[in-house]
Amino acid sequence: MPLIDCRECQKEVSTDAKSCPHCGAVLKSFFSRNKFWLVPVLVLVTVWIGGTLFTMNRMMKKFNNPTFNNAPIQRPEFGN
Ligand SMILES: [Zn+2]
Repeated sequence: MPLIDCRECQKEVSTDAKSCPHCGAVLKSFFSRNKFWLVPVLVLVTVWIGGTLFTMNRMMKKFNNPTFNNAPIQRPEFGN
């Protein structure tokens, strides 16, 4: 059973304990004890990355648009 130092009294406390048996301080926050908050974060990150890729894909399609490529091409001229 791993032990951590209580941030209040610096005594060793089991990581399974919700509060310090020595001083009664709450040891872990909801977020470190409970990993369920990771799910919405992962979903948000996935949506964000997906949206970025989608936007990049649209930009690349715009770049490959024929009208865009019809712009006059400047060729180097020799021997004016
Ligand atoms: Zn303590």
